[in-house]
Amino acid sequence: SETVERHEFGAEVGRLLDLVVHALYSDREIFLRELVANAADATDRRRFEALTNEALALPSDARVLIAPDKAARTLSISDSGIGMTKEDLAQNLGTIARSGTRAFSQALGEAKAGEGGEDLRPSLIGQFGVGFYSAFMVADRVTVTSRRAGSDEAWTWASDGKGSYTLEPAAREQAGTDIVLHLKEDADEYLESYRLDHVVRKWADNIAVPIAIRDAEGKEEAANRGTALWRKPKSEITDEQYKEFYRTVSHGFDEPWATLHWRAEGALEFTGLLFVPSMKPFMAVEDDRRSKVRLHVRRMFITDEAELLPNWLRFVHGVVDTDDLPLNVSREMLQSTPTLQKIRRAVTTRVINELSSRSKNTEKADEYQKFFENFGSVLKEGIYEDFERRAEIAPLLRFRSSTQEGWTSLPDYVSRMKPEQEAIYYLVADDVEALKNSAQLEGFRARGVEVLLLSDHVDAFWPEQLGKFEDKPLRSVTQGAADLSKFKTEGEQAEAPPVDKLVAALKLALEPDVSDVRVTDRLVDSAVVLAASGMGPDLQMQRLLRRAGR
Ligand code: ADP
Ligand code: MG
Repeated sequence: SETVERHEFGAEVGRLLDLVVHALYSDREIFLRELVANAADATDRRRFEALTNEALALPSDARVLIAPDKAARTLSISDSGIGMTKEDLAQNLGTIARSGTRAFSQALGEAKAGEGGEDLRPSLIGQFGVGFYSAFMVADRVTVTSRRAGSDEAWTWASDGKGSYTLEPAAREQAGTDIVLHLKEDADEYLESYRLDHVVRKWADNIAVPIAIRDAEGKEEAANRGTALWRKPKSEITDEQYKEFYRTVSHGFDEPWATLHWRAEGALEFTGLLFVPSMKPFMAVEDDRRSKVRLHVRRMFITDEAELLPNWLRFVHGVVDTDDLPLNVSREMLQSTPTLQKIRRAVTTRVINELSSRSKNTEKADEYQKFFENFGSVLKEGIYEDFERRAEIAPLLRFRSSTQEGWTSLPDYVSRMKPEQEAIYYLVADDVEALKNSAQLEGFRARGVEVLLLSDHVDAFWPEQLGKFEDKPLRSVTQGAADLSKFKTEGEQAEAPPVDKLVAALKLALEPDVSDVRVTDRLVDSAVVLAASGMGPDLQMQRLLRRAGR
């Protein structure tokens, strides 16, 4: 008809769809978790908006309904949530972050190439939050009919997942969304209510919005328990329940590396149930740097945008539930209420304390290093972003070193410093191998002075911000003339041969490209090395600035 608009997906979306459908086949029941989670999120969002706009109030029987239709071979997922306008449909379902797609296909390629690729695939879906697109694993055609709460227009989005989608006006009596999946030949199992029930219990049991499944007789059965797990006493919760809850809040498939469940009492009352993942997600963290820890008030979900943790702890997932805020808390209030500020502080302190005690547990050093390999570069952001917490973050960091095997820490470095040593020395470069062979290290190595080797992309930035650790200044070995003369080398010559004339000649030849030529005790085998001036940025920093065109 004339009212149907056809739109092409961006090339990246087309590719992603193809990947989702063909490569991630093995654990396709995940599509239901993704669609139900979206429906529940939409319901929560509407409830939240209704707090400040009565016209948007949820119907009293608001639920997510999963309805199979054997005759039509369709499966529909309906909600009375916030809904989508025509623009929302095009935006939310027609585009996806390019960077994410690229990272995704790359990771997938690696998973295929390496051993155990098969096992990795399902976990990739969760980590990438492929979300809505996972519907095309089981359907060859998907229609989405939606009416935004507060609007009287409804629209239908439809696609076969092969490169384009259509948008046309539709009718829907009330606000909300219906997703209709036209199931593929081999996806019959999702027409059976017992099968649907099993999937919902496995993946979505903790979702607080009621989920119902319609059976063959048209009866609706509740499918999820929706228990606020965090409100139960620890002694009544099994590991399996914690793990399942972790997977619902993180959309992950891994086990939590750490589970923090505590109740704060006294001046401020709240319950926290937080998790640190054991696997690194491939993209999520770079797109949106804000913490998504969920805020509940008296069990009711309020928002996942309260930034309950600082950006540099954004890898932590979970829930904070408090009785100390009113249920009708508004967005403006969330920004400014001192109660929330205090909760943020307390929650952040709790997480830091946990990381700190684990970082000090020498018996489980391997476990901590695994954590650090996953999230260390995110933690380091805290050093330059969070003045207040800087000193607490520093001992949590781990480094390679010129004299130690494996990883080391700043406290350990300090404990090994030579009596006459005043500074903590470090060297930044793009990779550890380059660092190990750097001529910059020769003089230090000859004198047995330890140098921290930094090769993370954020390493050019934070050491200067930190400035000192335990009153010892951090000093880049490329910066100015580190006075190595006070450290003795083996068989050092009593007096260096005079080279004044050579230095003067070199200076003349190289000016104005270099600002100075100096005799150094930094080198042993190499004849020359480039150094940054004592005042200016470190060499790696200069490289980065040049790359950025500054
Ligand atoms: P994510 O949930 O991680 O944002 P998805 O691909 O699952 O990614 O969904 C994309 C977006 O589409 C959602 O962020 C939301 O804005 C919108 N959306 C999806 N399903 C619904 C729904 N049932 N009701 C309202 N909006 C929805
Ligand atoms: Mg989603």
